[in-house]
Amino acid sequence: MTYDVIIAGASFAGLAVASRLARARVLLIDRKPPGEEPTSACGTLLGVVQRLGLEESLMQVQDRLAFHLTTRTERFDVSAHPFCTVDYQHFCRGLAKGVTAEFLQARVQGLEGDGVVTDRGRFQARCLVDATGWRAQLGRSLRPSLVEREKMSFGIETVAPRRGDALGFWFDPTQIPQGVAWFFPIGGAARMGVASYASNGHLKGHLDIFLEDQGVARSAVHGGFFTARLRPPTLGPVFLVGDAAGQCLPLTGEGIRPALFFGQACGAILQRVLDGELTPAEGRAAYWAVVRRRRPMYWLLGLLQQILLKAPISIGERLVAAVCREPLASRILRGYVAFADPAELTPVRGLDDAPARTGQAWGTASQPAVMEDSHTGEQLERSPGDSAQGAEGRETMAKDPVCGMEVDEKHAAATAVYQGQTYYFCAQGCRDRFLKDPKRYLGGGS
Ligand SMILES: Cc1cc2nc3c(=O)[nH]c(=O)nc-3n(C[C@H](O)[C@H](O)[C@H](O)COP(=O)(O)OP(=O)(O)OC[C@H]3O[C@@H](n4cnc5c(N)ncnc54)[C@H](O)[C@@H]3O)c2cc1C
Repeated sequence: MTYDVIIAGASFAGLAVASRLARARVLLIDRKPPGEEPTSACGTLLGVVQRLGLEESLMQVQDRLAFHLTTRTERFDVSAHPFCTVDYQHFCRGLAKGVTAEFLQARVQGLEGDGVVTDRGRFQARCLVDATGWRAQLGRSLRPSLVEREKMSFGIETVAPRRGDALGFWFDPTQIPQGVAWFFPIGGAARMGVASYASNGHLKGHLDIFLEDQGVARSAVHGGFFTARLRPPTLGPVFLVGDAAGQCLPLTGEGIRPALFFGQACGAILQRVLDGELTPAEGRAAYWAVVRRRRPMYWLLGLLQQILLKAPISIGERLVAAVCREPLASRILRGYVAFADPAELTPVRGLDDAPARTGQAWGTASQPAVMEDSHTGEQLERSPGDSAQGAEGRETMAKDPVCGMEVDEKHAAATAVYQGQTYYFCAQGCRDRFLKDPKRYLGGGS
């Protein structure tokens, strides 16, 4: 069967594209029913949720951010544009109510000619959209080098029983090298996670340390890559949206709003192509133009991310403090919001209709979920082969006994000699913990 549009991936970006295709025969393909497996900590601007009419998914609203630095905490007033946390399942299912599409639960394997190959057959369409997240399953079958794991950030998180009233971020290189920890309150609990901006992604140890410091324990873990740099928005006949197009913002890791914003823009353009108002080539050019206009924000945040990673701690902290002061804070917030203004989003259609208006009801999939690259647990630890280090130089790699991270002995942040043996640490904080109780980390217990 031939469709007007095939959208691979039915999360934020894929559903946003589909929501703007009112007069088209659309096939939406995902390995999971929409909303089933969270891909995010689900913090976004309250304006996004309100504009789409998805208030039902709201978990908690926050009007300030807290930046925890090595010696102090800076607060950023966002009451002019509050942030919030949402429930992934409610949010996606709410978005899906505005979608008229057939849904196929299947694993997309790639492109073959003009067809999308899945484990449930091959499907054809006039227009193809890749919204499969950082893996860019369609895009990378056209350009295998599209997905460069070593250039992405990587994060994992869990839910813990801690209340809070601000979105919290920890930038403390002495505890989390080249990374950040976060605390996103969701009512009676919080989503707490850690991410690395660098290629070293062995994060479970750091998540445990962060949780221990906050007095809570780890439960189920999920996570994945933050793309952190733009990729081409089209490749051959394929439109890429959301993380597949690298549209998650560097530094802040905000990817939901861009996925929705560019997704809706892409859907509106595709509808014009299908209506004959634009040729496919003009449609691709129009989508490039939408993305190109917003490129400066990616450039700026990418630069700031590099500065925070490379500059001495004191400079990074002064920068954060300056950003939190008025009148700069208000200006920054305005500019950051305007990059993909919630007011430009189109509200979800048909929210009063229940259930979702789709060819196949969500959740009635006829095939078991495939777990091979699940977002959970141990599989999320990067393998040594994923590291930017590559094969050469691996002989100088040691394992930080506290967090388990791989550390290049020549560039270790700290070292300690214990019973005649040298240990290498990714951060000063790990060394301090080790020296307090070496036996705990060497398997001997306290
Ligand atoms: C730990 C973590 C926390 C984050 N927290 C936030 C946050 O609080 N706020 C924020 O704005 N951003 C956050 N982000 C970034 C945000 O999650 C992403 O930018 C956003 O999810 C991108 O949406 P997307 O629709 O492009 O991709 P995704 O949400 O990743 O969705 C991709 C979809 O494609 C499907 N898929 C993938 N491969 C296949 C295949 N082969 N076949 C079929 N289907 C497939 C998946 O099942 C999924 O439904 C976070 C990211 C991480 C890793």
